[in-house]
Amino acid sequence: MQQKNDSLGYTRIRRVAPIAVNTHGGRAKCLQRLVRLDLPVPETVALSFDAVRSLADGKALDISALLKVFGNTPLLIVRPSSEDPDWGGPGAMLNIGMNDVRHAELTQIYGDEAADALYLRFVQSYAIHIERLDPEEFETDSGTSTRQALKDALDAYENETDEPFPQEIEVQLIKVLRSMARAWSGTTARLLRQAKGAPADAGLGLIVQTMSFGVGPGECGAGVIQLIDEETGAPLVRGRYKRQALGRDALADQSDVMYLTKDKRGPSLETDCPALFDHLSEITQLCRAKLREEMQVEFIVEQGKLAVLDAVRVPRSTRATLRSAVQLAEDGIIPTSEALLRIPPRSLTELLHPQIDPAAERSVFAKGIAASPGGAVGRLVFSSAAAQLSEARGEACILARRETAPEDIRGMHSSVGVLTERGGVTSHAAVIARGMGVPCVVGASMTINSRKKTITSANGETLHEGDMITLDGSKGEALIGETKMLPPFKDRWYLQLMEWADAIRDIGVRANADTPADAAMARDFKAQGIGLCRTEHMFFEGDRLTVMREMIFAATDEDRREAISRLLPMQRSDFIELFRIMQGQPVCIRLLDPPLHEFLPSNRAGAKELAEALDMPLSDVTRRIEWLSEFNPMLGMRGVRLGITFPQIYEMQARAIFEATIEASKLGDPVVPEIMIPLVSAMREVELVKTLVDGVAAAVRNEKGADFTYRLGVMVETPRAALRAHEIAQHSAFLSFGTNDLTQMAYGLSRDDAGRFMNTYVQQGVFPEDPFHTLDVDGVGELLTIGAARGRQASPNIVLSVCGEHGGNPESIAFCRAAGFDYVSCSPFRVPVARLAAAQLVAAESKVSPK
Ligand code: PEP
Ligand code: MG
Repeated sequence: MQQKNDSLGYTRIRRVAPIAVNTHGGRAKCLQRLVRLDLPVPETVALSFDAVRSLADGKALDISALLKVFGNTPLLIVRPSSEDPDWGGPGAMLNIGMNDVRHAELTQIYGDEAADALYLRFVQSYAIHIERLDPEEFETDSGTSTRQALKDALDAYENETDEPFPQEIEVQLIKVLRSMARAWSGTTARLLRQAKGAPADAGLGLIVQTMSFGVGPGECGAGVIQLIDEETGAPLVRGRYKRQALGRDALADQSDVMYLTKDKRGPSLETDCPALFDHLSEITQLCRAKLREEMQVEFIVEQGKLAVLDAVRVPRSTRATLRSAVQLAEDGIIPTSEALLRIPPRSLTELLHPQIDPAAERSVFAKGIAASPGGAVGRLVFSSAAAQLSEARGEACILARRETAPEDIRGMHSSVGVLTERGGVTSHAAVIARGMGVPCVVGASMTINSRKKTITSANGETLHEGDMITLDGSKGEALIGETKMLPPFKDRWYLQLMEWADAIRDIGVRANADTPADAAMARDFKAQGIGLCRTEHMFFEGDRLTVMREMIFAATDEDRREAISRLLPMQRSDFIELFRIMQGQPVCIRLLDPPLHEFLPSNRAGAKELAEALDMPLSDVTRRIEWLSEFNPMLGMRGVRLGITFPQIYEMQARAIFEATIEASKLGDPVVPEIMIPLVSAMREVELVKTLVDGVAAAVRNEKGADFTYRLGVMVETPRAALRAHEIAQHSAFLSFGTNDLTQMAYGLSRDDAGRFMNTYVQQGVFPEDPFHTLDVDGVGELLTIGAARGRQASPNIVLSVCGEHGGNPESIAFCRAAGFDYVSCSPFRVPVARLAAAQLVAAESKVSPK
């Protein structure tokens, strides 16, 4: 017999004929390795991706030659073999070759009931999955005998197809193979696997194997065994065994299932058949050591003899995946670099946030964009004030808003989750929630009525204030009621993996952090400093907002100076606190960015409250709000434009930073603050702010009699700044690319409104991904490359970084590293994701172990 029959499209699996995952799939490769380990695997043939593709295209396959491999054939099983088991595939087809003759033979060996049941199951699956006949026609009534049900099924088949049930194994097998091949190329299957990261041209291999039966005289049965707990990854023998079972599908029926290890609750394989149990455990250990993975082994016992049918990676939680990868590396079975590569970076967020229990029932109310991961349960509130009241009562709440504005920040702080009707991944709600580590869903399919305090779902269901809801920020769903949660998890295996990651990674990871709480989180997640402190977020807290508003309402320069002088000590103490928490690590502080009207109320009730607080006529307040409002505030007086028009604000901020630097340096190592200018588009803006900041530094040095250094840099977030980076770099110690605004301006796409059509755009292939989520390498990426090259050309030692939301996106990190950036900066909860993603880039190149 030929070892390999590649020209025929199939390969007989043999000890000496290696099989590649990228031609025949993971299951085929695994089976070949089991054979190489001399495990008792029944006769198996693998069909390559190419063979399966040509079957799907209707081309012929020499089925008689293939069947010769199986000799005087018994029954066969066909299973899928894709490159990655997570990409799915058609379900296995068992008992191919079953017909009237075989049925009669099996009746002699196994008795009527077993033979009837086996034939019936085959007719049903063949009719429903291969011939795609109406499943209802093949349902069995509970009172009917198996023999009668079999007869009914054969009749139903003939009625539906006008042909008797096929008796030739050649006919059955080719139809099964072709049907599975076509199921793989169907649109739904393709979209499902692409959502799991499969490439558009991912192939499917098929495995044809002799069926073994766990029925007959002596010890007979079927089972599965694995050596870890699939939830925690802890070592233990787990599995099931069922006597007199006709293959794996019998195991799905939990009745009469035996334990594997000794158990007080019932009979076990270990007690009844210790030698068999030991042999099985040894085989599974061998698989772990040689296949370098925790495997779930499927086996059959036929008259006391063991057969290994298949082995798959144990299906398991992220926590168990992480623990087993680290354990395999610690046991010397895989290098640490491979352990790193086995953990999808994004899956770490599952460990770091409370999550909805995957086993919990979900009653979906609305679907939206998954803007900040994790799960939260709380009562529905519709305003910041209600959220704060709820927090004061000690009741968890979820804040629902059409969209959030800066004045909602306090409410967001008081909530355990945020739900909005509008917005995309870089909208206000999304950015703030991610920064705070609060689960958030934006752009949800629902309508908010803030006046009536209700939300109405797309299918007309309505929830009221006070109703309990659950938010799934990882999936982008709002669920009705309280759903069961799992706590966050940071165990020794996680810490070990991250230690290995940090040992090899060659691009820095900082955090975007605005408050002491964020900074503490950043340190906890081992960020190498703060890459972006958005100072405007410091003004939204309690009394600061009032002073800020007084400053905005000041009628004279003197009044404005007076208000600003009251903001100074608040900012100074903020910075001292940040420097203290970061313990000498770099802290990059961005001067005030947003338009001033964002600090003002957005509705009449708020304006009235403000008029009372400032003791001003309401008409003055509304006039001022109108005066400050702009047609397009995102492109209006914000960022450096504000700093140049109202220099007192930046002056105050620079003074607060320098005075804090002097104070914090007394407490520990000298602090070298980094000051960043936002929304620059022209070199002259940098010159003006530099002159201002240098002047403040000189004055503070003089007044305090203390020296310090600082670094002034520019946030590159307008296309013009990227193009003129060579000029801007002349006055900058660093350039940090703000890819949120850069994406917004490169596309001319509002980051707050894009959510409305982004799904349609991605679905229709206009954008391959949401560009606010994954960096658009072709367009925005080119601006980054141009900016980096021009900046470096003018100033070779200039430090380059990305501090937009893309900083925490694994694909975007790969781009930044390839472009030679020094670090990325992202929200604290994404820091571990970024650390692992960065390490994987090195691990994939070198596969070296830091040990
Ligand atoms: C950016 O624009 O990328 C950025 C980080 O700034 P912000 O999100 O505060 O506008
Ligand atoms: Mg910006």
